[in-house]
Amino acid sequence: MDWQLASSERYWDPEPPAGRRKVWVRHVGHREAVFAPHRAPRPALQEARAVPSRMVTLDGSHGEGGGQILRTALSLSLLTGKPFRMTRVRANRDKPGLRPQHVSAVLAAAELGRADVRGAVVGSRELSFQPAAYEPRDLVIDIGTAGSTSLVLQTLHLPLALTAQGPVRVALSGGTFNPKAPAFPFLESTWRAHLAAVGLSVAVAMPEAGFYPKGGGRLDAWIEPGKPRALNGTARGPLRRIRGVAGVANLRPDIAQRMRDRALTRLAEYGLSAEIDLTEWRSPGQGAAISLVAEHDGTAPATFVGLGERGKPSEVVADEAVMELLAFEAVAQGAVDPHSADQILLPLALAPGQSVYTVSDVTEHLRTNAATIRAFLDREITIEEPHGERPGRVVVGG
Ligand code: AMP
Repeated sequence: MDWQLASSERYWDPEPPAGRRKVWVRHVGHREAVFAPHRAPRPALQEARAVPSRMVTLDGSHGEGGGQILRTALSLSLLTGKPFRMTRVRANRDKPGLRPQHVSAVLAAAELGRADVRGAVVGSRELSFQPAAYEPRDLVIDIGTAGSTSLVLQTLHLPLALTAQGPVRVALSGGTFNPKAPAFPFLESTWRAHLAAVGLSVAVAMPEAGFYPKGGGRLDAWIEPGKPRALNGTARGPLRRIRGVAGVANLRPDIAQRMRDRALTRLAEYGLSAEIDLTEWRSPGQGAAISLVAEHDGTAPATFVGLGERGKPSEVVADEAVMELLAFEAVAQGAVDPHSADQILLPLALAPGQSVYTVSDVTEHLRTNAATIRAFLDREITIEEPHGERPGRVVVGG
């Protein structure tokens, strides 16, 4: 396998000058990216407020074009003190602009960093964020909708962990099971394990589950201060076991049973067995979900979640989790699952030394997060995709 033939980041520079193709993956961050921290244009807003010249400018439509660009920018703005301005916020999403969970993340970050913020309202497609004195402390955050509590927590986690003098508690209300976001079981089993592997300790609890549309779930996090260290995560050992939880909130318990039965049947078709517990979550709303955790030797567990919705049969919910797990199992080379791959990039970019990890699937989220990080930090991040896409290898630091 030739790890040198990196084909990622093509979208940053559609027509690189001849002969630069190899180098370009490594150095694209500051030269070609639309993110341009050192050559920021000076729009009227900045002129009027005499914003420092090192304002980072971000195009929220780039790459994945979702909320991750904003969240990573908030984390890094707090940690580096660099202000940023973002246009076309979440331009590639069905409902572009800031949603309530993004506004919550911005306001919580602003509170921590005593930041001067413009544009932090639902629907806004432009935002500027200029932190002043940064002060880590406990936070209570109510998103007010079913928006993802885990994504808000992930925004604040590193700024708190890296700077706090003692443990910090963050209590969030909102959704704990959201499509296209880490569900609570993922945080608990996978996110925490990846953080622990780089020396960061966080405990999480979900006293109540939150589902669309009612929300009202609660996520509590206890963050220990720490400094991330580099990771060598290239090997995935044999599958030790699959465990899981099938649960409902204020729905008939047989729904959970049907999800479990279906998952067991589908896994058995592929020669796999699992231990799946049944549960009923406390919640102000109704919902159903199944999580499957693949535990391999030598790497963090990978969690895959199927999420119920009105009119979706339990069997389909189970199939979604099983299919994601099978896709991961089908690729032996990737030590890190596709969702963790983009989420662990930021702690590793902040860790001294070189980190290397393999991923089962190189996603647009991963590429986009690398670009956002490069806009703030002078770190080399290389995403190698020897087969054009799918399994790949990430190298952070030269
Ligand atoms: P964005 O779409 O830009 O708001 O970013 C979504 C974030 O949620 C990314 O960090 C994804 O890796 C993460 N994510 C999406 N789906 C899942 C999932 N099923 N499990 C865990 N994380 C997820």
